[in-house]
Amino acid sequence: MAGEPQADCLFCKIVAGEVPATVVRETETTVAFRDINPQAPTHVLVIPKLHHPDAAALAAAAPEVAADVLREAGRVAEGEGAESYRVVFNTGSGAGQTVFHAHAHVLAGRGLQWPPG
Ligand code: AMP
Ligand code: ZN
Repeated sequence: MAGEPQADCLFCKIVAGEVPATVVRETETTVAFRDINPQAPTHVLVIPKLHHPDAAALAAAAPEVAADVLREAGRVAEGEGAESYRVVFNTGSGAGQTVFHAHAHVLAGRGLQWPPG
């Protein structure tokens, strides 16, 4: 069922504490942890504790939690001392999504090109 933990989902396992992660922030509805393969000096993932396959599905099913993810992305950047940062939601394998549990990438600490690749 939408929102329920998925047994085969890596990020549900991080939420459950079954897979370790370097957690930088946690709220009732979200967890933020460092990306295992960082693409910038700051590279933190913010995920909802609820399982939804991508950001749009999360926003449709639980808009208040989608707002929590965005708010937490800003707080992560603030905590890292980043005035400028990028929040990315890769959606679909063609856009580089590899984990189908909604997540925001928070990237900062180096020049960020526009347009992105
Ligand atoms: P995406 O490719 O947009 O789906 O993002 C998934 C991200 O999860 C990638 O940047 C991976 O480096 C990251 N990732 C995969 N496994 C882990 C893990 N165990 N802990 C932290 N980050 C991970
Ligand atoms: Zn999940």
